[in-house]
Parts: sequence; structure tokens; C-alpha cells
Amino acid sequence: MPHAVRRATSADYSIRLASVSKVYGSAKTAVQALDAVSIELRRGTFTAVMGPSGSGKSTFLNCAAGLDRPTSGSVWLGDVELSRLNEVQLTEVRRQRIGFIFQAYNLLGSLNVEENVTLPLRLADKKTDPEFLREVFTAVGLGEHFRRRPSELSGGQQQRVAIARALINHPDVVVADEPTGALDTRSSKQVLELLRGIVDDMGQTVLMVTHDPVTASYADSVVFLADGRLAGDLPRPTPDQVAARMTHLGEW
Ligand code: ADP
Repeated sequence: MPHAVRRATSADYSIRLASVSKVYGSAKTAVQALDAVSIELRRGTFTAVMGPSGSGKSTFLNCAAGLDRPTSGSVWLGDVELSRLNEVQLTEVRRQRIGFIFQAYNLLGSLNVEENVTLPLRLADKKTDPEFLREVFTAVGLGEHFRRRPSELSGGQQQRVAIARALINHPDVVVADEPTGALDTRSSKQVLELLRGIVDDMGQTVLMVTHDPVTASYADSVVFLADGRLAGDLPRPTPDQVAARMTHLGEW
């Protein structure tokens, strides 16, 4: 019997956007932040989103991660259509199935490292699996620091705590917004190698917004946005190729 070519199913994708548009404001003041964006992110891949300022990157990330609702079109996380969920369900999905990493780390200063990392589990009323916790701490290189407060750590270490927190729920996707924006070159490199590692070694899916070509080059592919529309992609990106594309798209 001939082999059928296996078609991709929803299980192969962590996030899908189908013709997503987002309009802010109305009538005369309306701004089309996203214009019919369709994209599919395969599980276990690392995707960077780039584009000039105002091109819609944050709006794209917010819609993909259920932080904002599209004006039209649909967003799927695995086989769940986010656009159909009510606020309570959406909050639940964000908490349980999406890991967030922000430029400013967003750790709670009154909690120690271990408490910050396990907070998503406590919020979801789930037990901590000590073995997985140890695995995550080892992966992010924070084994000996778990009793420290965030203020006793460097920026790079704080971001690694945030990455551990993002992983603790085994999310369908880890969403990162300028994760190295506040870090020096050396710490940035460590954080990006860690993100690369969670994709390669743990099979995680990472979606990252950045304006930096070197940061973007750690991804498997870069998708470009211009004026709210997809403006091509670049598989196996190098910093020079990314920079050339960005120059082509206009001012950064
Ligand atoms: P980027 O992240 O690429 O800089 P954004 O997604 O922040 O782009 O913004 C895309 C467009 O939408 C811009 O023109 C911006 O001014 C507009 N925009 C973003 N958020 C809002 C908002 N809450 N209200 C009105 N306009 C917005």
C-alpha cells in the first residue's frame, strides 16, 4: 500500500492565527494594528517576530497569547480556539498553557526564587513535582539560588528565574517580549542560549518579539511584520540577513 503523505493536524501546531485583524479605536481615529495575519507555529520550534516600530509586533504577541482579542479572525492554541473563550476561561488558559517572559522579568520581590517559580502552580492549585522543579532549576542554572530574593540576583539571573517560572506548567507555548531588552551582551547570550535549549532539549515552543537581529538569529525562523501585515519570513536566520531585511522594511 502506498504511504499517504501525512497531513499536518492541529496537534502539530502550538499556535495558529487565521486571518487575524485588530483595529484600535473607531471611525476617524481607527488604527489597523494587524491586517489579516495568518501564521502557524509548529510545536518544538523557536520563532522570532520582527518589524519596524508600530508594525504590530506587540499586538501580534498579545493576540497570539490571549492577552488581547482580535477584531476579526481566529486564534488557536493547540485545539482550543481562544477567540471563543470567555474572560474566565481565557485567564485559565493563559495561566495553565502559556508561559510568559517579559523584558522587565516581572518577578514578585517579596517572594524568593523558588516561590516565584512555583507561583503558577499555586495559582492553579497544582502540586509541585519536585523532580521537574529540580530539572527546571538545573536547566536555568539556578540550583544554589532558590532561597534568594529577586533583588539579590543579577538581571540575567532574574530573567532565568522568569524562564523557570514560564516552564513550570509545561506550557503549550512560551511567549517572550524583548526578553533580553534590559540585559548586557553576556547575560543576553546566556538567556538566548537557554531559550534555544528549552526548544532543543525540552521540545518547548517559543514565540519571541525582538528588535535586535542578533537576538532574532537564535530562532529557527524570523517572521517580519510591516504595517500590520506579514512581510515574509527568514528560516535559519543570521544577524546580517535579519538586519538587511529590516533595512529593506524601512526605519527600525
Ligand atoms: P510594535 O510592537 O511593532 O511597535 P504595536 O503592536 O505596539 O507595534 O502597535 C501597532 C499599531 O497599533 C501602532 O500604530 C500603535 O500606535 C497602535 N496601537 C497599539 N496599541 C494601541 C492601543 N491600545 N490603542 C490605540 N492604538 C494602539
